[in-house]
Amino acid sequence: MKLVIATHNAHKVEELRRILAPQLSGIELVGYDGPEPVEDGLTFADNALIKARAASAHTGLPAIADDSGISVDALGGAPGIHSARYAGTRDDADNRRVLLENLVGETDRTAHFECAAALVVPAGASSSALSVPAEPFEHVETGSWPGTVLLEAAGSSGFGYDPVFRPDGGTLSAAELTANEKNAVSHRAIAFGRIIAVVRTELLGA
Ligand code: IMP
Repeated sequence: MKLVIATHNAHKVEELRRILAPQLSGIELVGYDGPEPVEDGLTFADNALIKARAASAHTGLPAIADDSGISVDALGGAPGIHSARYAGTRDDADNRRVLLENLVGETDRTAHFECAAALVVPAGASSSALSVPAEPFEHVETGSWPGTVLLEAAGSSGFGYDPVFRPDGGTLSAAELTANEKNAVSHRAIAFGRIIAVVRTELLGA
């Protein structure tokens, strides 16, 4: 049984493999290099489903996708679903710089990372259905990771806004955590941890 990880972001593929592989033995996790759909949803869940649907339709296989970003309270939830292109360039360093600039003089720096994880299983590929359904199976789970936007970047692991985000309950930025430390608590770990049970039921009948 194959499951497509529907993202072109190499950092995310790596994080997702680390999170999923130990709990999905019997399922081969495969990458995706097909067409990228237009992400024109209004929520993380909409966009995660758009990506998983596109990869499943292109490959004919079950697909899993996520949409994620950082939401800053003092900015009314921005950049939110626009996190990847906040600076207009898709460049992580540019995005961090714009975020810090937009928070200059702001005392409330509370924020959270958010992730929606979507599973799409083509009609006929589910092992839990009693008869072949006419429609694909679709399911979304979400996860949130609360923290604070730092005054300046710290650390070099992770990706995206990790260097400027300090998770609640600690003193380090997300980019100063090891991959294992981040993957134990992050928004992505929570969302995918929740969807693993659904993947197992749908694909393994377990
Ligand atoms: P997506 O690939 O459309 O889901 O865009 C997600 C964007 O949100 C990334 O490009 C990052 O800028 C940001 N982001 C999401 N998750 C994380 C994370 O775990 N650490 C740092 N930045 C993240």
